[in-house]
Amino acid sequence: MSHPDLSVVVPIYEEELNLPKLHERLSATLKAMGLSYELWFVNDGSKDGSASVLRQLAAKDPNTFFLLFSRNFGHQIAVMAGLENARGKAVVIMDGDLQDPPELIPELYAKYKEGHEVVYARRRSREGESWFKKATAKLFYRLLKKLTEIDIPLDTGDFRLIDQKVVAYLKEMPEQSKFLRGQIAWMGFRSAEVLFDRDSRIHGKSHYPLKKMLRFALDGITGFSDKPLLWVSRLGLSISAISGGLILYALLAHFIWERTITGWTSLMITLTFLGGVQLLAIGVIGQYLSRMHRNLQGRPLYVVQSAHLPEAKENFTGN
Ligand code: UDP
Ligand code: MG
Repeated sequence: MSHPDLSVVVPIYEEELNLPKLHERLSATLKAMGLSYELWFVNDGSKDGSASVLRQLAAKDPNTFFLLFSRNFGHQIAVMAGLENARGKAVVIMDGDLQDPPELIPELYAKYKEGHEVVYARRRSREGESWFKKATAKLFYRLLKKLTEIDIPLDTGDFRLIDQKVVAYLKEMPEQSKFLRGQIAWMGFRSAEVLFDRDSRIHGKSHYPLKKMLRFALDGITGFSDKPLLWVSRLGLSISAISGGLILYALLAHFIWERTITGWTSLMITLTFLGGVQLLAIGVIGQYLSRMHRNLQGRPLYVVQSAHLPEAKENFTGN
């Protein structure tokens, strides 16, 4: 079975309580579809018992494989690691907290069979997520749409089915900061969507606090748009124009009208305003610079501590 019909890639961070149910529901769904399949779990440095649950599952099920990262490398990287190993003709990416129902896979697969290389699972509703998360997510995707030429469908996460062709192109993209949904949209393959109701997490809590969401959003923006750089240079230009006028006024006031200004207030305002704008501009440039820096370093994306891979000879030793 070198190329099963379907691979499923699931990033796992502290999902020990969700894993057995997830595995059961996935296996039942895929078996009922009558396809050859494989399951790839990537343990992203969980501190709970996820790794040992994975070992137990793999010991019982010949279709289950896993990678154990040496530490937490992040959700997108975990998905990427799974994709690098997935051999299926089509690959499903889904979360491990049962927010993405495995039972949707047959519908995704049906659309794929109709000839779409990318089939998004689009959320009709999102159970149990705060209005804040929903509102910020909405705002972000609208902003991204404005900023970039690529069209990332609204209300989709990474839950989707992609053709192995898409996976091959993803592997060709060397960026260290992954924003898979953007990268896939960028490719422009034929896509379709299937609607679903997103459940709330069964066990555990979200591992995407605001800070991580912001980081992710920044990766999305810097990875796909140069417009912030354009904005700060335009801002610089308009402020220079204004200051040109002010300089003229100051010279006239001093030499011609001989009216020197006491002006502590105006001085403070200009000083702090310009200081702020300069730091902002440097910050924007810094974002791009740090992205370049990471790419230049060219480190491996992740470190695998041990793994359970399809061919016995390839298996890593270690615990
Ligand atoms: N996840 C991961 N590494 C992380 C954070 C999350 O592999 O650093 C996994 C997590 O186990 C889940 C998926 O990524 O399978 C989505 O994470 P989560 O449910 O916390 O995000 P949310 O659904 O709240 O956006
Ligand atoms: Mg979740």
